[in-house]
Amino acid sequence: SSVKYKDHQKFMLQNDNSTNLSASEDLESKRKSSDDNDPKKTTSNGKSPNQPASKEGAPKNIQCRRNNKAPDKMTEEEVMQAFRDLVSKDDPLKKYDIKQKVGSGASGTVCVATDRQTNHAVAIKKMDLSNQPKKELIITEIEVMKQHQHENIVNFLDCYLVEGPGSRELWVAMEYLEGGALTDVVMETILKENQIAGITKRCTDALAYLHSQEIIHRDIKSDNVLLGMNGEVKLTDFGFCAQITQDRDKRNTMVGTPYWMAPEVVSRKQYGYKVDVWSLGIMVIEMIEGEPPYLNETPIRALYLIASNGKPQIKDKSKLSPDIVNFLDKCLEVEVEKRATCKELMSHPFLGLPVDMTSLRQNILA
Ligand code: ATP
Repeated sequence: SSVKYKDHQKFMLQNDNSTNLSASEDLESKRKSSDDNDPKKTTSNGKSPNQPASKEGAPKNIQCRRNNKAPDKMTEEEVMQAFRDLVSKDDPLKKYDIKQKVGSGASGTVCVATDRQTNHAVAIKKMDLSNQPKKELIITEIEVMKQHQHENIVNFLDCYLVEGPGSRELWVAMEYLEGGALTDVVMETILKENQIAGITKRCTDALAYLHSQEIIHRDIKSDNVLLGMNGEVKLTDFGFCAQITQDRDKRNTMVGTPYWMAPEVVSRKQYGYKVDVWSLGIMVIEMIEGEPPYLNETPIRALYLIASNGKPQIKDKSKLSPDIVNFLDKCLEVEVEKRATCKELMSHPFLGLPVDMTSLRQNILA
């Protein structure tokens, strides 16, 4: 009888104690350190000025890479200039032969295309800039992808500004993963424990890398894991990433997708890298049970349940191996200090299970 909140909408909750959950609002996390005008180098030291002040006081001074202006003070033209600095000047239509649409998200549609020279397939995400409330999020996403190449992160290839009469689109070319999102696999098929271990190991490796680069992903869930037909597993969707800096090693913006959020995020505490470890644990539950805990509940009630219940119950625990149960315990530890880091998890026995990753092809095709 209950509705499932399958669209897994992500949120930023304004820091004003109201229940203003605003979908796809910006976090504006990783806008920029003052003295660095190089758009390729991004660090952040603050939060969005359009976020209401937190309990600790006024929003920290955040500055933009271009001209040290806060993002909401940038004019439309300055934002567009930031995009122009980021994009390739080539004509994407000369480089790529655009084929069919393979998906769509909050910020636009994704098409498959072939590189005319190499004949390789690529994915092109087309975002209508005239219809984007928070363009800074997109800049964050592109910068993270551009600067952080890893075997288990969707590789960025290039991006383009495509301007026509009355239209302005940003096209981002990236590796194409023809298996699509992990969500479809967990919803449609039952994964074996060693397959879950193989997927989790690759995601943990990508997260350990991001954390070593002082980045928190903040939106880990099956929707943001893409699969290839030869066993590839790659993290995507970097729009919500936060850059940690020495003078600001904790965050407090409530960001993410409710069902996957760590208790310290939900309870509006300061948080750090380990929010990704909690979400990784929730994603392991998705792989075991097909969905995250509380998906039948409204997002607001799910937040309440996360805060009040702490570690969620695992159904049919007796069917699981001690290693996977222990791995979940290490991820879903409410006390942040006791929760494992990704680096520690990499040597967990559960992730050592042998697996033929190409076996996932069957699950993708099912
Ligand atoms: P947004 O980031 O705008 O909130 P989203 O995270 O929901 O959106 P998109 O990144 O726009 O989703 O992707 C939408 C869908 O397109 C994905 O669910 C996936 O099926 C497909 N897709 C995205 N990127 C790729 C890729 N690199 N290769 C193959 N398919 C992809």
